[in-house]
Amino acid sequence: MGIAIVAGTRPEILKLAPVFRSLKDATLDPVWVATGQHGDLAEQAQNAVGIVPDIVLDGGWDSRSLTSLSSGLLDQLGSWVAGHQPSAVIVQGDTASAWSGALAAHLNKVPVGHVEAGLRSGDTNNPFPEESFRRLIAPIADFHFAPTRLAEKNLRLDGVRPRQIWVTGNTIIDTVLDMADRVRAPAILDQVKPGERIILLTAHRRESWGEGIAGICRAALELVHRHPDIRIIFPAHSNPRVRETVEAMLGAADRIHVIAPLAYPEFIAVLKASHLVLSDSGGVQEEAPSFDVPVLVLRETTERQEAIDAGVARLVGTDPAVIVREASLLLTRPSAHGRMASRKNPFGDGKASQRITDILARKLLAEKELRQAG
Ligand code: UDP
Repeated sequence: MGIAIVAGTRPEILKLAPVFRSLKDATLDPVWVATGQHGDLAEQAQNAVGIVPDIVLDGGWDSRSLTSLSSGLLDQLGSWVAGHQPSAVIVQGDTASAWSGALAAHLNKVPVGHVEAGLRSGDTNNPFPEESFRRLIAPIADFHFAPTRLAEKNLRLDGVRPRQIWVTGNTIIDTVLDMADRVRAPAILDQVKPGERIILLTAHRRESWGEGIAGICRAALELVHRHPDIRIIFPAHSNPRVRETVEAMLGAADRIHVIAPLAYPEFIAVLKASHLVLSDSGGVQEEAPSFDVPVLVLRETTERQEAIDAGVARLVGTDPAVIVREASLLLTRPSAHGRMASRKNPFGDGKASQRITDILARKLLAEKELRQAG
């Protein structure tokens, strides 16, 4: 059996698709295991990047409970890994699927590759539970694919051996570059009038549910009130805890469009057309610099400090006064906006998946030869 790729959420699918393709090109026989952690969002992402899963887990857990989800995933992935003995299991990032895929492999003595290893916010409550999941994967992973030097440093500080870490770039840049020529303008862009500037808004983090999301919505209302030439497009996450607040507060607002999650080629089309992004998403912080779009990060901490250091993103939290102040600055001062746009993307060069494939091919071959010799 070849290498198993375990993925269940939208970002994992978007970030592992180029790795899957690259492994396939290298005839390493990858097998895509869809955990089903995200339902419709996952299917939308798989369709966008041309993934047809080889295996789909049965599900049956209560996805509103992190313990039910994690134990259900661990149980089903554990059985699958034990029964099929893949040559390695690759997980990505910081989700329940990633943690359970890594642990299921580790407990079956199958090597674990962690893509996007080493991101740290330094606060296990922020983002929750992502910071814990990625930290828990570190001690059991065998191959740590760090997207940046900072991530590499974080892993070393955690005690990971340097010879198990490779700085590869983030695979989302591979996906972004692959998609850049295949974007598809969604119908919502037809509603943008000449001369209007688009603000793309996304918010879904668990720690923002309730007050945080409400603060973000208040900021959106104040921004359209103050700036008559802006239009806010908000593809709201399908999670009901997010949608209910957002639809109640923004559903009837003028020049704010709360829409269903966009397919990736459509999302990238809106991102490209945007003047500014307000987002608590990890992936969006990584993608926006590729299109010279500044990001105001709607969180108190970020594990993507590279974006802050490069000057392409700024942390603003969820306090409406701060969001409105910082966004207004970028809307009214072209020089401030210009300083945040037109910077080099600090997250990668589009070749991360090829690097990961080369490393895995070399390492797995060396292990096979060692086994045969022994
Ligand atoms: N995304 C998308 N459609 C949308 C909103 C986001 O395809 O309507 C993509 C986005 O481009 C990014 C990923 O989803 O690559 C981010 O997912 P999310 O914000 O859910 O997760 P995070 O990156 O914060 O883990």
